[in-house]
Amino acid sequence: MAAPDAQLRAAVESALGEVRARIEAAGRSPDDVQIVAVTKGFGPDAVVAALGAGLATVGENYAQELLTKASVAPEGVRWHFLGPVQRNKVKALHPHVALWHGVDREAAGREIIKHAPAAPVLVQVNLSGDPARPGVSWGDAPALVDALRTIGLDVRGLMGVAGLDGARQQFSRLARLARDVEVEGLSMGMSGDFEIAVSEGATIVRIGTALFGARPGATQVRR
Ligand SMILES: *Cc1c(COP(=O)(O)O)cnc(C)c1O
Repeated sequence: MAAPDAQLRAAVESALGEVRARIEAAGRSPDDVQIVAVTKGFGPDAVVAALGAGLATVGENYAQELLTKASVAPEGVRWHFLGPVQRNKVKALHPHVALWHGVDREAAGREIIKHAPAAPVLVQVNLSGDPARPGVSWGDAPALVDALRTIGLDVRGLMGVAGLDGARQQFSRLARLARDVEVEGLSMGMSGDFEIAVSEGATIVRIGTALFGARPGATQVRR
């Protein structure tokens, strides 16, 4: 019988093949869409399996989880931080983070730039408008993009998590906003809605359960 790590890697490879096929079926070349392997809730073995399957970009939502996994992960992982940026966590996180997806206020950007000049960031927009969810409002997003550029961050794009209803309309609105504020990057789409997201122009999808199965912990995405 194969070792558990080889089994996990084979499972992730096969799941990745399926995700790529679904991206293609949704009308996009899988080579044009970056897949971030979201390993939150799983152990470091999931990171190793992702890397083995060819997914070197790994996303985490929680600072401590990222730091713990980064301390044991093999070389070559590019970490994306997906969670809201808590200012007291930036100092520890920044040496590891290749892209911050969750910048939704200027204070977070100022904290990042204090440690990482010209760091690449995405501005998270609150797609559903639910005040309990992270993200800058639609109306305030353009000014935030400007403010972050002004202080010297490299604003690569926009990020959003769709609400339960109306994902297509929300993703297409985010794509329009990206054109308006002249950014290329569009991080949108998760396991449940990535086909809609890629058909609306996503350049980055963030995929957890479709690659690794259901998360063992209670870290389901709040919608
Ligand atoms: C957990 C999470 C994901 C991955 O969710 P799945 O549904 O498991 O693919 C993507 N983006 C964010 C912001 C998340 O919190």
